[in-house]
Amino acid sequence: MTDVLIDTQFNDLIATALAARSKAYAPYSKLAVGAAVKCKSGAVFVGANVENRSFGLTICAERIAVGAAVAAGEREFVAIAMTSDSNEPIVPCGACRQFLAEFNPHLIIVSATVHGDRKIDNLSRLLPDATRGILKDADSS
Ligand SMILES: [Zn+2]
Repeated sequence: MTDVLIDTQFNDLIATALAARSKAYAPYSKLAVGAAVKCKSGAVFVGANVENRSFGLTICAERIAVGAAVAAGEREFVAIAMTSDSNEPIVPCGACRQFLAEFNPHLIIVSATVHGDRKIDNLSRLLPDATRGILKDADSS
């Protein structure tokens, strides 16, 4: 996709993710991340990273947002925005890529920094063949 789309199409979603970032609990990494996932229905759910002194228990902002959406009955997602104050737009970690692919292997990933840098990607590029494996597809009911 082109930079023109990045600059116009996802402004609201990025703004929502930036607001969610203020709720992050990141006392260890100091990397506060906010996320906002847009559902096919138009609804938007937010998340912020929640760290833990036992690092493996840390939950990324993207998974918090999607978890909140699923708990509210949503399962179809079109895009997720994530925001941070890093020097460059961050990308979802490997665990989040797999988690997001459960619902949409072609999810649009929009990443923005508080400094105004933006990058758009597609989950299918970040995690190819996400649904090819030994497990049969989940029952979507
Ligand atoms: Zn993650």
